[in-house]
Amino acid sequence: TGGDLHAEVVVLGSGPGGYTAAFRAADLGKKVILIERNPSLGGVCLNVGCIPSKALLHAAKVITESEEMGHFGVSFQKPDVDIDKLRGWKESIINKLTGGLSGLAKGRKVTVVKGVGTFTAPNAIEVKGEDGTKTVTFDNCIIAAGSEPVTLPFIPHDDPRVIDSTGALALADVPKRMLVIGGGIIGMEMATVYETLGTKITVVEFMDQLIPGADPDVVKPLQKRMEKRFEAIHLKTKVAAVKALDTGLEVTMEGPKGTFTDVFDKVLVAVGRKPNGKMIAADKAGVIVDERGFIPVDNQQKTNVPGIYAIGDVVGQPMLAHKAVHEGKVAAEVISGMNRIFDAMVIPGVAYTDPEVAFVGLTETQAKEKGIKIGKGVFPWAASGRSLSLGRDEGLTKVIFDPETDRVLGAGIVGPNAGDLIAEVALAIEMGADATDIGLTIHPHPTLSETINFAAEMFEGTITDLI
Ligand code: FAD
Repeated sequence: TGGDLHAEVVVLGSGPGGYTAAFRAADLGKKVILIERNPSLGGVCLNVGCIPSKALLHAAKVITESEEMGHFGVSFQKPDVDIDKLRGWKESIINKLTGGLSGLAKGRKVTVVKGVGTFTAPNAIEVKGEDGTKTVTFDNCIIAAGSEPVTLPFIPHDDPRVIDSTGALALADVPKRMLVIGGGIIGMEMATVYETLGTKITVVEFMDQLIPGADPDVVKPLQKRMEKRFEAIHLKTKVAAVKALDTGLEVTMEGPKGTFTDVFDKVLVAVGRKPNGKMIAADKAGVIVDERGFIPVDNQQKTNVPGIYAIGDVVGQPMLAHKAVHEGKVAAEVISGMNRIFDAMVIPGVAYTDPEVAFVGLTETQAKEKGIKIGKGVFPWAASGRSLSLGRDEGLTKVIFDPETDRVLGAGIVGPNAGDLIAEVALAIEMGADATDIGLTIHPHPTLSETINFAAEMFEGTITDLI
């Protein structure tokens, strides 16, 4: 009843991929409609992902650092956490950013249509919103519908004591004992926040290490620190059952030590995310969606249907905001007639834990699996003056090189700010830099960035001393 609308470009979903695509297309002169089912723009990343998690992790970091300064002769009082105020601060950041997006959309004359969008034809989407149903027709469409947390059949997800990352970020309370199912990035970030706020944390992970995807030596310093701070970390262990009791959630786990049960006040399920491809009636447009819900695209983000593109979490791994953003730009530019492809050589991944774990390009584990010969330079942060002056010595910078050409192939970094440092290696890989390029580039002293410089020199054998 809301009337019909037409746009040159319709973007379905306003996460980092969607808003980037919408804004870029508008900047290139297109008439754009952005469809979003949530009250605010910004998708998972701004509302219930990257940004709120980093705000809470910052609070956690300040608390831990103030505790640890006691060892260095500077003592603070025990932090007095006002959880309502902390939650309010986190929400104020979200509101600032999502409100900012609305302003940016307005400034570009991007029309935002609120409601749930589903395809009805290869050139039409029906949007069901609070103010009725509208049909939006388009010349081009960019699907940016994102992803949502995976649920497991043997877990009572409707019990309020079972939460996902969105529930964890809502910060309803600080439970006494929480089980985190899944030792990946999201699980470990949330575990870090709650542990610092006073929750006793147990982590259960199916694989044989935390942060699967990063090399074991890079994850080890994080694991060691978490082993000290958490109640338990069960690796190579799977959750077989979760039973809702009045006294708590009884969880049965099966691991190397056999089958055991434990009772928790809350269970955070962080076992991965699934794409939203199956929720948009893509078949009505003829768009292929695979069994898992991913939408296959080519390197111009084109789906099998002419004029329909897809970007972000809904097209595949890694499900990361920076990947979505770059894909969004490509789709908008291709639609606008530019000759563009998505051809990133590498996409960095970061766990914003304490210490941070960051990785980019080829890992040693992958090299072994694929039989690729590599060389490496490994610099321990115990020999970094800057790291020691931060009161931390457990970090590690490992850069992986092609032994024939000395070109940089990948890196794994663990330590404070590893996530910021990894960008240099991504640039080195994109530019085809070799060990000498990094080794001869003067890095400011004393910074953690020098560890990349030193790792290259370690590989080349040109390092004289460790400072
Ligand atoms: P999304 O952000 O998922 O947005 C999709 C949007 O589409 C949503 O707003 C949704 O409401 C809307 N939508 C879907 N279907 C419809 C429909 N039918 N009609 C209307 N609207 C619809 N990534 C990082 O790079 N760095 C991080 O630090 C990081 N931290 C994270 C922490 C957490 C707790 C989580 C859960 C994720 C994190 N991520 C992080 C991942 C990141 O959030 C995603 O990769 C990113 O949001 C994907 O962007 P997107 O544009 O593909 O989709």
